[in-house]
Amino acid sequence: MLVDGIPITRSRPDVDSLGTCTLNCAFFGGKETMEQVWEQTLGGLKGHLSNENFETWLRPVQFGGIEGDSIVLRIPNQFFAEWITAHYLDMILATLQTTAGDTPAPKKVRWELDETLREKAQAARESTPPPAPRAPRATPRAPENADLNPKYRFKNFVVGPANQLAHAASVACGSDPGRRYNPLFIYGGVGLGKTHLVNAIGHAIMQRNPRSRILYVSAEQFTNEFIWSLQNHQINTFRERYRTQCDVLLMDDIQFLAGREQTQEEFFHTFNALYHSDKQIVVTSDVYPHQISEMQERLVSRFQSGMVADVQAPELDTRIAILRQKAESEGIELHSEVALYLAQTVRSNVRELEGTLLRIAVKAELLGLPMNLELAKDTMRAVSPNQDTETSVEDIQRIACGYFGIRLADLKSRRRHRAVSFPRMIAMYICRQRLGTSYPELGERFGGKDHTTVISAVRKISGLIEDQDERVLGAVGAIERKLGI
Ligand code: ADP
Ligand code: MG
Repeated sequence: MLVDGIPITRSRPDVDSLGTCTLNCAFFGGKETMEQVWEQTLGGLKGHLSNENFETWLRPVQFGGIEGDSIVLRIPNQFFAEWITAHYLDMILATLQTTAGDTPAPKKVRWELDETLREKAQAARESTPPPAPRAPRATPRAPENADLNPKYRFKNFVVGPANQLAHAASVACGSDPGRRYNPLFIYGGVGLGKTHLVNAIGHAIMQRNPRSRILYVSAEQFTNEFIWSLQNHQINTFRERYRTQCDVLLMDDIQFLAGREQTQEEFFHTFNALYHSDKQIVVTSDVYPHQISEMQERLVSRFQSGMVADVQAPELDTRIAILRQKAESEGIELHSEVALYLAQTVRSNVRELEGTLLRIAVKAELLGLPMNLELAKDTMRAVSPNQDTETSVEDIQRIACGYFGIRLADLKSRRRHRAVSFPRMIAMYICRQRLGTSYPELGERFGGKDHTTVISAVRKISGLIEDQDERVLGAVGAIERKLGI
């Protein structure tokens, strides 16, 4: 049975056993060899990661076979795929290549969800010696709570103007769940800390009340469980789990429910049951509630009935602080000039920012090179060779100055004369629309202005464009043509 058109995401039977991969064994010359190569690769990787990271992230991964030029790796949940891809993928592929020697090694990884590995992952986490002595837990952890990511906590979330509202609301939720901000709806682009914040809420609640039954699930996981329970006549158990045995529901990436009528219906009733019992509900999404496509209006209005907070791309200082913090937690020595360069180059996605830092650190370690600006630039060039040709805030400012015949210093100045303020507003508008740069960062790049100044400039120009103001349309059109965008 297909519900909302989705088959259950489980291990596919054809890659469940290694024996089914014989067709592709030409890669490494035999079935046993393939698995051995993976084992050896794991052994090689172990030396490059801290024991805790290795046990948490790589130990639970299982070899699932070879398909074409991909290695199939089985993982306990989607998060592993995201984390390993961001942090260890290059290293895994490079080590596979070294281990395979002259035989061609896989160039890609295909991830496969295998829920039976979840317990193994948990066991690994718990058997890993903690880095510092921990206070004993008051009660054993409820199994559901195991799904919180141990790394995502408030203490390692860097707060800046772009995320301070979402952070403050999350902290309030964590200390007083089910009361002040219920539901809490956090939205924002990819890799900006939504998952981090919801997990941190879960940890904060657990810390205050270890008996809290916290469910952290992605909307995709909720959908899959729902479909599975329908197929296996377990719907009562499913409802019990989500409606009765749950004190806090943390639902990540709700946009996944777009167009999935039956799952939305189920979620609507889950939501009501929890809400009416004063249970905390936190939902994340990549867009504002109204913009989620094909979402029932009654759910959208439920989402809007509580607190709606956004996370924007962090501005330069926050990006530098995030890099420093990440470097410290990974034991990476990060020079200021490298931090500044990375923060200036990778702007719109914190995951990418962290991934780049780790990639450079791994490269430095593997090649025995100092982690300096040169290595950072080299690595960045290899990752995105076109970055130099991409339009930047500076390009827009320069061309806007040329078009209006004013100096860059005036554009960035505090002068309010219309001859200067109008070009400034136009340039801010184009930057925001075309580059998606955050308001605080734009404020900074336009001579240290407050983000509210940028917001009102962008609003003003948007309004004039809606009114078909010819001067604005002409200027925006001409500058964009010059930029070739
Ligand atoms: P999202 O769910 O919005 O796509 P994530 O929460 O998965 O993003 O964040 C991506 C990565 O960036 C994670 O490793 C997360 O810890 C990190 N991150 C994002 N924002 C911050 C921040 N403000 N401080 C520290 N780390 C952050
Ligand atoms: Mg996320």
